[in-house]
Amino acid sequence: MAITDFLLPKPHGLGARTSSITNAAINGILPIAYPTEMEIDKALSFFNQQRGSELACVYCGDPATEWDHLRPLIKDKKPTGEYTQIRNLVPACGKCNQSKGNKYWKDWMLGSAPLSPRNRSKVGLDLRVKNLEEFEKWGKDIDKANLEKTVGHELWDKYLRALNKIYKSIDEAEVVAIEIKAKTVSFEAKKP
Ligand SMILES: [Zn+2]
Repeated sequence: MAITDFLLPKPHGLGARTSSITNAAINGILPIAYPTEMEIDKALSFFNQQRGSELACVYCGDPATEWDHLRPLIKDKKPTGEYTQIRNLVPACGKCNQSKGNKYWKDWMLGSAPLSPRNRSKVGLDLRVKNLEEFEKWGKDIDKANLEKTVGHELWDKYLRALNKIYKSIDEAEVVAIEIKAKTVSFEAKKP
């Protein structure tokens, strides 16, 4: 079998890391509201599930392994106002959580992403969507977290400026990386 029969691992450039830095930078400063047991019971009741029993992913029905933020905390490198609180948390499986990313849940669920529930031919999607719509209505009552307003414009701006310095450094390193890559590619090509 020739090497070309395989898909070679794609090199991940530095540029691809900026979104994980943004995620960490914003995620790390968002508030967390710890729910009471009663609030967890209420949240799970939208999906006919109970605390203490095996939880199922609300998107696809597989066993749940984690809590997923239904509405994204970050969009276009900015905080959306959502944070970690029970009205925005649903039991999910790893596959769904990773595949969904920062996309709007319904578009993703019924869309054509490789691991979306529809694409994995999961049954009962209509009921799951309906349950999630009801759950989302319940979440609409809660105030959003406006970080800039809470901490003041000056401090917020200071943080954004510090982050922008990181992005600029990444861009600078990326330019050098491309230059180095051009040389290593020709080095590989010379190999017997
Ligand atoms: Zn799932």
